[in-house]
Amino acid sequence: MHLSSTEKNVFYVVMAVSLALMIAQFLRRLPVWRKGVPIHWKPDPLGSVAKFILGQRKVQSSRPKSGAPMHLMIFYGFMALFLATTLLFIAVYGQAVGIPNFHKGAYYLAYEAVFDVLGMFFVVGVAWAWGRRINLLRQHGPTVVNPETGKPEFNGNPLSHEVKDHLVLALLLLLGVGGYVLEAARMANTPQPWDFYAPVGYALSKVMPAISNDVYRGIWWSHAALVAVFFITLPQMKIKHIFTATLTAAGHNPEASMGRLEPISMAQVEETGRIGVATADQYTQWHLLSLDACMTCGRCTEVCPAHNVGKILNPKQVVADIAKAAETGEEVAAAVSEEALWACTTCNACVEACPVLIRHVDMIVDARRHLVAEGRLSGSGATVLRQMAGTGNAWGAPAGNREDWMKGLNVPLARDGKPFEVLFWVGCAGATDPLGMRTSRALVDLLNKAGVSYACLGNEELCTGDPARRLGDEFQFQAQAEMNVAAFAKYGIKRVVTACPHCLNTLRNEYGDFGATLEVLHHTELLADLVAEGRLKGATPEPGRVTYHDPCYLARVNNTSDAPRSLVGDQTHLDETVTLLDLAKNEPYPLRVLAEPEQHGRKTLCCGAGGGRMWMDEEPNQRPSNRRLDQLVETGADTVAVACPFCRIMLDAGLKQRPDGDNIKLVDLAEMLQDANS
Ligand code: SF4
Ligand code: SF4
Repeated sequence: MHLSSTEKNVFYVVMAVSLALMIAQFLRRLPVWRKGVPIHWKPDPLGSVAKFILGQRKVQSSRPKSGAPMHLMIFYGFMALFLATTLLFIAVYGQAVGIPNFHKGAYYLAYEAVFDVLGMFFVVGVAWAWGRRINLLRQHGPTVVNPETGKPEFNGNPLSHEVKDHLVLALLLLLGVGGYVLEAARMANTPQPWDFYAPVGYALSKVMPAISNDVYRGIWWSHAALVAVFFITLPQMKIKHIFTATLTAAGHNPEASMGRLEPISMAQVEETGRIGVATADQYTQWHLLSLDACMTCGRCTEVCPAHNVGKILNPKQVVADIAKAAETGEEVAAAVSEEALWACTTCNACVEACPVLIRHVDMIVDARRHLVAEGRLSGSGATVLRQMAGTGNAWGAPAGNREDWMKGLNVPLARDGKPFEVLFWVGCAGATDPLGMRTSRALVDLLNKAGVSYACLGNEELCTGDPARRLGDEFQFQAQAEMNVAAFAKYGIKRVVTACPHCLNTLRNEYGDFGATLEVLHHTELLADLVAEGRLKGATPEPGRVTYHDPCYLARVNNTSDAPRSLVGDQTHLDETVTLLDLAKNEPYPLRVLAEPEQHGRKTLCCGAGGGRMWMDEEPNQRPSNRRLDQLVETGADTVAVACPFCRIMLDAGLKQRPDGDNIKLVDLAEMLQDANS
């Protein structure tokens, strides 16, 4: 088809105006992002974009069965179409700057064949996304907005259902299918001998009636109009994350870890006159930019333990509320709601799930810091902060009681002055809570049996400050951290083992900011090493009788889930006493020693104790531990192994409420191993 020069000019003007409108809308967001605090880290734009955008690293790890393949098809299909259009543009217009027309010969045939097929990934992916969205709408019904809060009610559907969510998918589908219709119409209008190199368009052209020049021209202009609509509406649609997620990845802090919160210094407080974040402009520019990358996919909401027991907290909504507050200047705590902010367990499931790198926990804790500084934390949360400040123990036990659990065990103490290789960091739960004390006692028994050179700080140990920090009391945390770091320096401590993943996280990831250089091991890591070295016997449970609950701060935040499993005996093996056959293959059926719950490893489900929630009031029907227990019990195992005193306390309380609770044994892995070594 030959366009007249007037038609060409109209086309150029339409494209230029639509692109200009798109860019102008993005530029209007710049002042909102720039309101924030400049970042202090050094980003790695190329590496991060290659990893998270081109490599789709986080997309691949979330929703591996549906969302990930669907998004990969859309993304790589879109990239292929973008590349095809760019190459065509260069071939046609590059001649003006001396680039010869390369769109011919064997290259052209390969171009037609490759991009014709790759474009189908885009069409199928978009159709899949739309079908899935409609299916979820059918299952859960439309989003109902609570008239009092103005926020969506919990209905189990991670996706929202605004009309524009459907319109954008319809537009993308029209663009994808329209491209093939246009290609087929050209073939039907002016067939060429090489058309079959583009198999999809060619097949479509064979079922088309004869296409006149006018009809072809009409299809061409309709497609061009859709492209213009796409450009103009893109910044208003979720698909804008093509750009905003790329910028977010480019500015992401390559050193950021889930386990570390940014410290605040007194100098900062004096300079800014505030603690934490009151209004959104007090977040960093990167955090504000990242809010615009949210495509409301609901992955964060789907995995949020608080939301999934019907609490008001919804991490997707938190992002939307903070984004709105960034525009209006409303206080973040008011926009999100204080109730939602306090409901967070800081489990980081949302951060792990978010494909565009949004760090919900940073933003929630920063808002909590402001609330604590303003005296707006009351009830049991405030009580725990007070008792921690008074005693250095999260349970409020006097410092003099910290050695009670050791009675009769002859536990070596650092102050005895004898050299030792590893410090056993007991933690408040291990020293105070009856269940935690059982783990501590089992662990020292095993350390003694294995001949490990260790000692404890005893009464010189204070709470690491983790609960205070995550509740928002940054300066109480820092005071405790500094005293503990001084004790480490006093005894030259370099290697620490602890049975508490919360202590482990703080010692490993956060004490570095206060001058400690420590190698910190979880007790399951040290015990696994001792078993591997033959210094302890491994446990030998029967296949399928044991399930293991991964603690968030061990498996997700500190990426440790193999060592605990090795203690249970995670190897897949054949049961030689019972002949079970996989009927489909007529082969012996492999039995796992460990019965895995639905969510495990990095995707584990929180017990509800983190972020200070352990000590906060909880409605009995809104305990995250109930949902987790359902998953653990569904495995059919009669022993639940744990590796965190917080998880143990929460699950123990949950088991006591269940009619089948008496049939389930709850043990720390150290106790399981102690049995094997008794
Ligand atoms: S915050 Fe991340 S995971 Fe949550 S809805 Fe937005 S993009 Fe999805
Ligand atoms: S950290 Fe956990 S509890 Fe908090 S919002 Fe994220 S998923 Fe929900």
